[in-house]
Amino acid sequence: MGAGPNGLTAAITLVQAGLDVRVYEGAAAVGGGARTEEMTLPGFRHDPCSAVHPLGAGSPVLRALPLERHGLSWVHPDIPLAHPFPDGGAAVLARSMADTAASLGPDGDTYEQLLGPFLGRWEELAADVLRAPLARWPRDPVLLGCFGLLAIAPAALLARGFRGARARGLLAGLAGHVTAPLTSPVTGGIALLFALAAHEVGWPFPRGGTQALSDALAGLLTSLGGQIETGHPVRTLGELPRARAYLLDTSPGSLAAIAGSRLPGWYACALRRYQHGPAVFKVDYALSGPVPWAAEACRRAGTVHLGPTMEEIGAALRSAQRGTEPQPPFLITAQPSLFDPARAPATSHVFWVYAQVPNGWDGDLTGAIEAQIERFAPGFRDLVLARAVTSPAGIEARNPNNVGGDIAGGRCDGLRLLLRPTLSPVPYATPDPAVYLCSSATPPGPGVHGMCGYYAAQAALRRVFHTRPPLAEALGAPPASKEAGK
Ligand SMILES: Cc1cc2nc3c(=O)[nH]c(=O)nc-3n(C[C@H](O)[C@H](O)[C@H](O)COP(=O)(O)OP(=O)(O)OC[C@H]3O[C@@H](n4cnc5c(N)ncnc54)[C@H](O)[C@@H]3O)c2cc1C
Repeated sequence: MGAGPNGLTAAITLVQAGLDVRVYEGAAAVGGGARTEEMTLPGFRHDPCSAVHPLGAGSPVLRALPLERHGLSWVHPDIPLAHPFPDGGAAVLARSMADTAASLGPDGDTYEQLLGPFLGRWEELAADVLRAPLARWPRDPVLLGCFGLLAIAPAALLARGFRGARARGLLAGLAGHVTAPLTSPVTGGIALLFALAAHEVGWPFPRGGTQALSDALAGLLTSLGGQIETGHPVRTLGELPRARAYLLDTSPGSLAAIAGSRLPGWYACALRRYQHGPAVFKVDYALSGPVPWAAEACRRAGTVHLGPTMEEIGAALRSAQRGTEPQPPFLITAQPSLFDPARAPATSHVFWVYAQVPNGWDGDLTGAIEAQIERFAPGFRDLVLARAVTSPAGIEARNPNNVGGDIAGGRCDGLRLLLRPTLSPVPYATPDPAVYLCSSATPPGPGVHGMCGYYAAQAALRRVFHTRPPLAEALGAPPASKEAGK
């Protein structure tokens, strides 16, 4: 159930293992959080949810699938990320580590010392990090151990290793992709992973918009014999044809409702009590020209973070967590049409912006968002042709998985990013051997990477069909002969 990136990846993994698979999607189109639509004016192709894909380009499973044959091509911006300051300068996260270090002034060397040891090791690291932490012995325990020692740290602590506001701001902005305060464990690791991804795989956009990635997954699935039925929201398992395994790309609460009495009371209760995190407030703009950034680097960047200092970003994230309006908000913005002209009519542009707000917040952040953009791009408002504003309620209305506007599949503070939805070595499995959760409410959590779907399918293949995914070895599992001998 659910044709989001995880549902589709799970379905592909099952089909590759030789099973008959049918996907039921509640919305009219496939994609879930990976869609593209004309939300404002004709010819302006916006991403209502995800837009930028370091985790997609770096995902072990998506990299192993022939998605290019089904229309996916990545567009790489000149600079993955720029982080401007009110003085007109900017820190940049460039493809090259040296260029990044050069933008960080006195902290360039520290940055290189921090990330240098992991350069060139993306494949091993991604295979060990983007999975359930208790599932199996790591592929490279030494590498994971070194990374883990740094990664468990809160971003606020890691940032103390830097002397200047630039490096601290850049690190805080990277950590701000996770909906947790900067003082929460693992936020430092998220920041480092995003930084490393920029050097290793980039922060690209799918050409034509994020829908192209979902369409490629759906195209691959159907080419292998899988079936997809859109416009079919599932309310109970009883309404579906009998199957040996059901995989749900849903929130934990929906899993409890849909599986009903098939799940024991204690487990259903744990799912119903699962906690959701801060929401996002999003604005998609149709602009008559490119954003008039004061900092030159921002004009060449795919993603721009707005919230200069670690203190300002930290305060905004804390507000969202504590239930108050962030003043000013920390913004994550993306400008895909600078690098992919097909996204908007000639000389015009789409611009993608969101800020974290409290779960279920019903205020209007549009004015505060535009004031924050104007601070770094004076004259921005004059370019606005149209805007599509999506509140937390709108985010949930678009996709029931985003409960209260939470786009991360659940709270991410503490160790909740790693241990979700319940503490278990195989968190995808439920007490019913035929029922599995495959959404971002399982490890490794939010992002368009398909890894939750892959590992949920692997759990079902093991438990029900006594086999394993054909891609297992490519994704770092020991050879089948060794596993059988254990
Ligand atoms: C505004 C926003 C911005 C984001 N930005 C980024 C980004 O830039 N980069 C990034 O990597 N990630 C980003 N994300 C997060 C990313 O989109 C999600 O983490 C990812 O899509 C999760 O994938 P999924 O397959 O688990 O679930 P989803 O993508 O949520 O898909 C679930 C699917 O299941 C369907 N469904 C749910 N219940 C039922 C049911 N009962 N019956 C049938 N169908 C059902 C839904 O309609 C949906 O299509 C963003 C998300 C949002 C909302």
